[in-house]
Amino acid sequence: MYGLTQQPLKPSSIKKPVGRFAPSPTGELHFGSLTTAVASYCHIKSMAGNWLLRIEDTDTQRCKPEFSKQILIDLENLGLHWDDEVIYQSQRTKLYNQYIHDELHGLCYACECSRKDLKGQFIYPRNCLHKSLELNKHKVRIELPNHSIGFFDGIQGMQWQNPQKMLGDMVIRRDSNSNHMINYILAVSIDDGLQGITHAMRGLDIMPMTSAQIAIMQIAKLPLIDYWYHLPLVLNDDGQKLSKQNLATPIDTSNERKCSELLATALKFLQQPFVEMDKPQRMLDQAIHQWDTQLLRNKNQ
Ligand code: GLU
Repeated sequence: MYGLTQQPLKPSSIKKPVGRFAPSPTGELHFGSLTTAVASYCHIKSMAGNWLLRIEDTDTQRCKPEFSKQILIDLENLGLHWDDEVIYQSQRTKLYNQYIHDELHGLCYACECSRKDLKGQFIYPRNCLHKSLELNKHKVRIELPNHSIGFFDGIQGMQWQNPQKMLGDMVIRRDSNSNHMINYILAVSIDDGLQGITHAMRGLDIMPMTSAQIAIMQIAKLPLIDYWYHLPLVLNDDGQKLSKQNLATPIDTSNERKCSELLATALKFLQQPFVEMDKPQRMLDQAIHQWDTQLLRNKNQ
């Protein structure tokens, strides 16, 4: 069975475009996260939309408040001003738990399998699906559909993914040893829906999870994202994705000239037309005016 989940196009006059930047504060911003911020900002502002900032800090072990603070400072210094209040996922645990016990309940199940039990198996073999274990005593998985879900990606083209075959029943909340931590896939699905995100632009590394996110949003009866864009990754000299884990150098926004240089380099990486060196805000105004997502498609080839 195939399900094409893109919602019918609505005239843009009805819905204001809403985009977001959703960093995980496991470190400071690096050049990779900067390109995602610049792209999602210029893209949504070129449609006179709102750009929201959401701090994805459910992983309290790896995320640090000082990194969140620095991310906000860097964005301000770069002239990337967000609309509305910043959302911190660490403050929304109650809400995510309500979804587990309410909207998503029918498809959630508790799982007592240890890492050792599942050694070598990438797709969860559903050992606990029919055990009816108590949700609060174990980690919680969600039953994901075993059919293809299609979505159009404005950079990568049409995508078809079967979430069951690609990912299996994902863990959405960890067990008491991990303090019942909410996992990324649940929090991002609920927040993108509740914040009315119409355009999601993010790194290509997350694209394999998109059909699972669409499925969760559908099950939870949340409004779906209308347009997806997965950006080419910035790679280091060894061909690896820049990440906080491989200690990509944090960006330095401590003076205006450095900010302007960072913006120029990011826009160049994003294949955008040349922007003259100027104050960050003016460079961004020019970049917004010239923004063309289609140019990013060349980067993939
Ligand atoms: N929090 C994720 C990250 O920092 C991004 C998630 C998203 O944009 O959906 O990689």
